[in-house]
Amino acid sequence: MDKDLERFVEYCKIDTQSNDTSDATPSEAKELNLTKLLYKQLKEMGLEAEIDQYGRLYSKLPGEKGLDVIGLNSHVDTALEVSGKNVKPQLISSYEGGVIKLNDEYSMSPSDFPRLKNYIGSDLIVTSGDTLLGGDDKAGVSIIMEVISYYVSHPEEKHHPIAILFTPDEEIGRGPEHFDAKKFGADYAYTVDGADVDMIEDENFNAAHADIVIEGVSIHPGEAKGKMINALRLCNEFDASLDPDAKPEYTSGREGFNHLMAMNGTAEKASMHYIIRNHDMDLLQKQKDEFVSIKHRLEAKYPKAKINLDIVDDYKNMHEVFLKDPRAVEHADEVFASLGITARHEPIRGGTDGATFSFNGCPTPNLGTGSYNHHGRFEYLSVKDYRKMIEIVKAIVKA
Ligand SMILES: [Zn+2]
Repeated sequence: MDKDLERFVEYCKIDTQSNDTSDATPSEAKELNLTKLLYKQLKEMGLEAEIDQYGRLYSKLPGEKGLDVIGLNSHVDTALEVSGKNVKPQLISSYEGGVIKLNDEYSMSPSDFPRLKNYIGSDLIVTSGDTLLGGDDKAGVSIIMEVISYYVSHPEEKHHPIAILFTPDEEIGRGPEHFDAKKFGADYAYTVDGADVDMIEDENFNAAHADIVIEGVSIHPGEAKGKMINALRLCNEFDASLDPDAKPEYTSGREGFNHLMAMNGTAEKASMHYIIRNHDMDLLQKQKDEFVSIKHRLEAKYPKAKINLDIVDDYKNMHEVFLKDPRAVEHADEVFASLGITARHEPIRGGTDGATFSFNGCPTPNLGTGSYNHHGRFEYLSVKDYRKMIEIVKAIVKA
């Protein structure tokens, strides 16, 4: 196996699954097993590196003086949906286009995953069917390490000063916690945490969430006529009053949604939890206003019920940062064009650690990795796309 693939496989085999029920930082100590290996490898290459008290690894490769310091970031943890323990990556050499048997129970076929047809004749790395692969985001980690290793072993090749940051806990939304922009020291940066190699992701959702608690009036059902107010039914009425089309299952592209994630309770007291998303801040505000006006209407209709509504903002669309400081996006566009790649810009229908970095003074769009079908057993790495990404990131930091 070639060295760049050996590196990827080595990282995939380390179990770094984060834990959304833990308050520790990092959420799982085992995430540090990869972080410590990266630290050792960076030190062996002669870089200065530091793992801070929060398990974030900062490192620097000096480059040409006077050029922007370009940051590169990826996360060491893997998703929670499928086990990340005993990952046994399998190399498919020169994929023939048929069904890939992962194990006795699971197979991947181009009829379920049509993108596989793009890779006929090239190599893939797949799972053994019982775990995820961890390409999200060990492909990103590997790409960054390959780029650093390349410039360290080619001192004649001029490049920008490079700042490196490896974070834990991205999958549980805690990756950008404790982000120290000063310590990172980048003028702008890139997260290497997407999929498609031609994508520059420079927009994400604006996000808020709403918690609603409704107290009804509980009375023996035999004597309830005209008196009972059933909190569960009020929850239903509340939900049915929201824009019926603004739901995740009916929206795509730049359309926002209100997603009812949880509904719990009894006839006496019930609660609902929504996440509210829109790329456009004004439209997000309209969605939030809709919650407030429904609350007021139901309070007027059922004066004996108690309706508590709590709306909290979570994260913002980083696009607004790039409007003021477009350097990172423009630089990526130029590099893609110089490599003959037509860059695609599509809004992320979710969040990204880069959004928090961007609002903390370091504009950070997201690039691809060449790994696909994240968060599950059907995850795979396209070796040719992975190598293309190594070339792209090399070109991004090239002087
Ligand atoms: Zn990721």
